[in-house]
Amino acid sequence: MPELLLKPGKERSLFRRHPWIFEGSIERLVGRARPGDTVDVLAADGRPLARAAWSPRSQIRARVWSFDAQAIIDDAFFRRRVDAAVARRRAMGLLAAQDGVRLIHGESDGLPGVIADRYGDTICLQLTAAGPDKWRKAIVGALARLTGAARIYERSDSDVRGLEGLAPVTGWAHGEAPGAPLSIDENGVRLGVDVIDGHKTGFYLDQRDNRLLTRELAAGRSVLNCFCYTGGFSLQALAGGAGRVLSIDSSGPALAGARANLAMNPGLDAARAEWLEADVFEALRVFRKEERRFDLIVLDPPKFAPSAAHAERAARAYKDINLLGFRLLNPGGYLMTYSCSGGIGLELFQKIVAGAAVDAGRDARILRRLAAGPDHPVALHFPEGEYLKGLLVQVD
Ligand code: SAH
Repeated sequence: MPELLLKPGKERSLFRRHPWIFEGSIERLVGRARPGDTVDVLAADGRPLARAAWSPRSQIRARVWSFDAQAIIDDAFFRRRVDAAVARRRAMGLLAAQDGVRLIHGESDGLPGVIADRYGDTICLQLTAAGPDKWRKAIVGALARLTGAARIYERSDSDVRGLEGLAPVTGWAHGEAPGAPLSIDENGVRLGVDVIDGHKTGFYLDQRDNRLLTRELAAGRSVLNCFCYTGGFSLQALAGGAGRVLSIDSSGPALAGARANLAMNPGLDAARAEWLEADVFEALRVFRKEERRFDLIVLDPPKFAPSAAHAERAARAYKDINLLGFRLLNPGGYLMTYSCSGGIGLELFQKIVAGAAVDAGRDARILRRLAAGPDHPVALHFPEGEYLKGLLVQVD
């Protein structure tokens, strides 16, 4: 097996069981390896540390499959890891309770570069690194066998594949296209999921529990849902008895999906819903001029800072929308505000939101700290897994 020899001192992050090995940590590769091949990782003194997948084009040159330096990386390895990931969700009752569940959350499930989301009997799989790209057949086979899913769609078209030198791969990897459009029941609300053209794997499963919280807070309130995508928060707010729900997104297809979702839920009062295709930054400024006010505002923007390098510009954008949000709240109103940027930690995000409240002249308190649901676990040794953070804030 090819050997990846680290520079002196660079074994430390592996002792902490962090699975990424950066280009700058590597002394040299002994032997030859093609992208995705398994390599033995050795400390500078030759001590074996781990087995990892080789990614020659990426800054993250290798991702650890196992910290057992003798582990055999084969089809059975992937069956065991996929089985463990599915069993974790089953043990929490998630598989029975929800149509939409993340089955594999990358590094935090011991499978770097692998995302698998289940929507009913369909799984959408996303492979983002050279390692899993090489083991595609094993991963698809394990998922199909262990879940009994009727079909698996591969949606490996994320931008990060470019950084790995990998071309996009999309298509049905197991089974055939379903006869009817896909939809899921999320806590009593029916939502369409477009695995082929939707964002990411088709839907944002990470906000499931937080949408439910919106429903609990919505009764009789006027709700503004910014960056609504297909209306997940909006529909839960309607289900919770919101007086009215105004939802904004800049994407026409997302809003068409939102309208279609509302039509699939005849129990919800469509007359209370309004959809606006606009840039949130501009729309909130117009609302401010018009002196409009809301009781509950959801801010769930896209990733403004994909990495720490973008943190400063992202911080300004978060500050801007949160400031506008605070200004548009009625007394006693709630701001439910999120960041899904890896480059912005919880502490920084809280500082930004606090600064926005000060500038808006509002006193406010945090009622809850919010995160992704338990099907998006965060491995303790992989803090990067905790990308989604949110605050439920109430103003005076
Ligand atoms: N809250 C959603 C997920 C939001 S994803 C849910 O629960 O499913 C982010 C959304 O922001 C995307 O739908 C994208 O189209 C939209 N978006 C990105 N930039 C925007 C902008 N400047 N103004 C309005 N919408 C924007």
